Amino acid sequence: MSNFFAQLEQAFVANADSPALLLASQQAWHYADLLQQINRVAFEFLCFGVSAGDRVLVQLPKSPENLALYLACLKLGLVYVPLNTAYTEAELDYFVSDAEPVLYVGEQSRQDVACATLQTREARCLLVFSDSAANMQQVQAADGPAAVNTVSRSSEDLAAILYTSGTTGRSKGAMLSHGNLASNAKALSDEWGWQPDDVLLNALPIFHVHGLFIASHCALLNATPMIFLAKFDAGEVMRHLPTATVMMGVPTFYTRLLEQSELNRASVAHMRVFICGSAPLTEQTFGAWEQRTGHRILERYGMSETIINTSNPLAGERIAGTVGFALPGQQVRVADEDGKAVPAGEVGMIEVSGPNVFQGYWRMPEKTAEEVRPDGFFITGDLGTQDAQGRLSIVGRSKDLVISGGYNVYPKEVEVALDDLPQINESAVIGLPHRDFGEAVVAVVVPSAGQVTLAEVDQALTNKLARFKQPKQVLNVSELPRNTMGKVQKNVLRDRYSDLFAGSS
Ligand code: AMP
Repeated sequence: MSNFFAQLEQAFVANADSPALLLASQQAWHYADLLQQINRVAFEFLCFGVSAGDRVLVQLPKSPENLALYLACLKLGLVYVPLNTAYTEAELDYFVSDAEPVLYVGEQSRQDVACATLQTREARCLLVFSDSAANMQQVQAADGPAAVNTVSRSSEDLAAILYTSGTTGRSKGAMLSHGNLASNAKALSDEWGWQPDDVLLNALPIFHVHGLFIASHCALLNATPMIFLAKFDAGEVMRHLPTATVMMGVPTFYTRLLEQSELNRASVAHMRVFICGSAPLTEQTFGAWEQRTGHRILERYGMSETIINTSNPLAGERIAGTVGFALPGQQVRVADEDGKAVPAGEVGMIEVSGPNVFQGYWRMPEKTAEEVRPDGFFITGDLGTQDAQGRLSIVGRSKDLVISGGYNVYPKEVEVALDDLPQINESAVIGLPHRDFGEAVVAVVVPSAGQVTLAEVDQALTNKLARFKQPKQVLNVSELPRNTMGKVQKNVLRDRYSDLFAGSS
């Protein structure tokens, strides 16, 4: 049986009396509770007449019930399609029309919006949960059997569709199979040396690959407990750190925790490893974290289409600014436009292959064909370099590459130089239309105090970067626009300042 849930279920049954989810309210769900809830939801779903392969669109805040709902979908062979609760009516309309779900599970407060959208789209059913407590009662009231059978699936059968954040054009649905989930969960659990006494601190959203698959699967596959927090709150996380052994987070978690005066070696004495990804971790944050806590953060690299591709080693050197090596069973290459590997140290497109690579974009065969090569390598859209040992570094998204006066400028290289300056807290380098250069390099900076001037930056970078890489303009902002996963939204910056050089020659 290749249904990924069958593996999880075995672990849950064997550890039924162990804690599964430790909640901020001090309540705990044991694996027996989680199993029971999964069976209840599965039974309810069956009452709706769903069958394997049907899509279930879920737009709920993070809760144990929401996690059980995901697992119930896996169990029944349904395709779980999580959506950010922040999506608007128009966005929901697109996802409903694209995914054609048989069920939508959402919040009471958004019932009107969802009803209107779903009725127009003729979705077969609608379930609305007001909040997690009510959900629990509603499901408990169902007079279902003690256990619902786990549906047989092949490893290629779809388990989930994750819509990519889609900063340009239509959001694409990355189709992940049971085999994708199972292979990556096992690879990560091995790579990060999961222990029977591990306690994972999970404060990530679960509508995204990071919180749902990368973090949760490690704990679930081993039936170890998760401190399951509805959202990231630095104070709340500080309170839980002393009982956790592993934390997975985005770089913003780490920068926010560094602002907490109580963060020190004693407060993390129980921790085994801090893992970070979804956006670049700066060398400054890596260094500051090590200084305060004694831990070198383990940075890894992944995405909705492939879950995790590379990781810094658990044992062995973790190097700031790099994302480590391909996971066992996977291949990573840095390639030219034809997919041919470039020499070590040269910048190229990062391409990956392995059992983790998705099944394509939902109902977009042309897009899939553009991004997956005939030899199975997925063209990630990220640019990087690999050293002779295969250690990977990311230099930015290919669409963020700046071409100024015909020269390629990799924003990360300029950002690293800028972030090194004491007067700059963080920076984002973008290219803006310019009559002379095609694109001009522009630095958007968050100053540590006062304002940073172009003259200052010029002077500081003169001997560090070639002239064509140096910013033509410096813009001061109080913060950089980021999405929920901590990624800087360069498209927002490009739009905001698109006319900066409009009048210049
Ligand atoms: P998503 O599909 O939302 O998970 O976004 C995936 C993208 O996040 C990747 O293609 C990278 O551009 C970026 N990303 C993920 N992990 C890292 C990392 N450790 N460093 C830099 N960028 C990352």
